[in-house]
Amino acid sequence: MKNLWNSQPTIVCPACGTFLPLQQYFPFAYFHGAKTACAYCKAEFDLWDSAIKILSQEPLLFRKRGAAFIGAHELSFVYQLPAEATVEIDLHELGVPLNSKLLYIVHSPTSEAAWPLELSSNQLTQRKRTNKLMFYGRPFPKSHESITCSPDVSISITYLPPSSDQISSDQLALACEYLLEDQYEKMLLPCAVAVEQITQRTVFDVLKKLGLPTNHEPNKRLGLEVILPMASQLLDIPKLDNRVTNLIAKLWRLRNQMAHQGSVSSGVKLAEVAEIFVASIFCVNHLSMVRQDVEQKSIFQNLK
Ligand SMILES: [Zn+2]
Repeated sequence: MKNLWNSQPTIVCPACGTFLPLQQYFPFAYFHGAKTACAYCKAEFDLWDSAIKILSQEPLLFRKRGAAFIGAHELSFVYQLPAEATVEIDLHELGVPLNSKLLYIVHSPTSEAAWPLELSSNQLTQRKRTNKLMFYGRPFPKSHESITCSPDVSISITYLPPSSDQISSDQLALACEYLLEDQYEKMLLPCAVAVEQITQRTVFDVLKKLGLPTNHEPNKRLGLEVILPMASQLLDIPKLDNRVTNLIAKLWRLRNQMAHQGSVSSGVKLAEVAEIFVASIFCVNHLSMVRQDVEQKSIFQNLK
């Protein structure tokens, strides 16, 4: 095992190409109005536009970088895989938290290595959470020739550690997997569930904190478009941008078509669903931040 690299969520500066730690910019700084500027070349860029641009790219190798916005990390390293050998890799030993979700794996065998075939247990399940990977080296024709250098395979793994808000995180991860499989319509339901779940929890928290009745659950649109903006103003918490709420309204409309008719009559294109996915991510992150803000009692001192 060599060249081990395990990185936090990153975004690439559009001006100079430097990898920047996304958590410095998103979500807290972004939603509190801070400008996003590269720490190296100082170029300013818009995170919303960047997220949409990354997630709407056709090549999956570039599109998968957008998974950073749902908190995905990248692990890369080089291991040796001779022909007809089996190699087991323990991801936890390499720094991946237990129960992380593997979103995307890229192999790059050198000319002297075999092609890695992933071995599974006798129970084939998709989207598993696993800590160990096992690869068998399928010989290339050239593997019969004498090996002259190390049979190296470079591997890059995009993974999502467990989250404190597991329901919304799981749903956004599911939407991300559909995005990486070009199954755009299927993204709508998990995006809608992620947003609806956190909207209802945030509305509940806000009403409770303000001493208002919580036994009548307001519907999701009333919560997101009326109650939360009013509460934000009252509590001096940043409001959610209209471009997010407009796209969430579109998400719920398309989600209803999917739930009631089984498909979206007009179809869904990559550019369209990338915008909706980014709006869902920004909405979930914003409301997570609002829930944390609401917990801080100092915010309410102004109300007394
Ligand atoms: Zn830069």
